[in-house]
Amino acid sequence: MLLSIIIPCYNEFGNVMPCYEGIAENVLPLKSKYDLDAELIFVDDGSTDCTAAKLRELSLQDKRVKFIVFSRNFGKEAAIYAGLSYAAGDYIAIIDADLQHPPSMISTMFEKLLDDRSLDCVAARRLSREGEPVIRSTFAHLFYWLMSRISDIKMQDGSGDFRIFTRKMADSILSVKEYNRFSKGLFAWVGFKTGWVEYPYAERFSGSTKWSFLKLLKYSFEGITAYSTLPLAISSFSGLLFCFISIILALYYALKALIYGEAVAGFPTLICVILLVGGLQLFCMGILGEYLAKTYLETKNRPKFIITESNF
Ligand code: UDP
Ligand code: MG
Repeated sequence: MLLSIIIPCYNEFGNVMPCYEGIAENVLPLKSKYDLDAELIFVDDGSTDCTAAKLRELSLQDKRVKFIVFSRNFGKEAAIYAGLSYAAGDYIAIIDADLQHPPSMISTMFEKLLDDRSLDCVAARRLSREGEPVIRSTFAHLFYWLMSRISDIKMQDGSGDFRIFTRKMADSILSVKEYNRFSKGLFAWVGFKTGWVEYPYAERFSGSTKWSFLKLLKYSFEGITAYSTLPLAISSFSGLLFCFISIILALYYALKALIYGEAVAGFPTLICVILLVGGLQLFCMGILGEYLAKTYLETKNRPKFIITESNF
């Protein structure tokens, strides 16, 4: 049996070694206990520091270390996809390079997966969001709450990419070829029975996070548009609603003029209504545009990543 561990790295020079050591130490007992071999697939997502050199050096020391270097930064989703495409394992794990995902959990998750044969995936969920800015965690909770209501997929609050799953599930994820990838949603979308384990929050070992608040906001919007068409439904519904209101108002003023003979006044209200409806139209067009842009990118069918170097 082979376990492929995918580690996306973007400017993680200081983390590569500790991460490698942590994983190597934790897969060692699995070898003697279950005869499980491991391959570590580091994906360098176009780092600007010496991450690639470090990976090259590491791969010479340990034959289990495989690496892929992207020609530029394609994003964590692309890195995961590349890792999955090259992984040969019967089981596949995904873990962050910054040690915020404790490597010791890999054996815990693997044993849980073996124990319960009905499971195809064991995912880790963060116990708490302490150490995170309040606004960020509030938005995160809001996102999970919203997603569970407006899309068919069920995403667990606090769940991420830290998980281990079977070849069967990996193949299903690979069969989804879309360009705009949103892993959290993809894992839920492909289905399969998932078991959960919890892990405590840990600080980043070295370096800093690559996710600014704005980037996260954009990412969550991506998630919403990728898995729900509710925003489109809302825009058509509000269009209908405003049509209805305007018909009622027109009738009201027409009758008023006929019965009481009052001249139609109300220049300011007119301006307000025009502005409101104009704004609404732009808003709805924007939503439509978002979906159209997604379709545009998908139809281009560009590769999800480009590799400059690898030892596969
Ligand atoms: N990462 C990546 N490409 C990116 C951004 C991040 O491969 O464009 C990797 C990064 O090296 C790390 C993991 O994704 O291993 C999680 O990133 P980070 O720690 O910055 O996110 P956070 O833990 O703050 O959510
Ligand atoms: Mg991190």
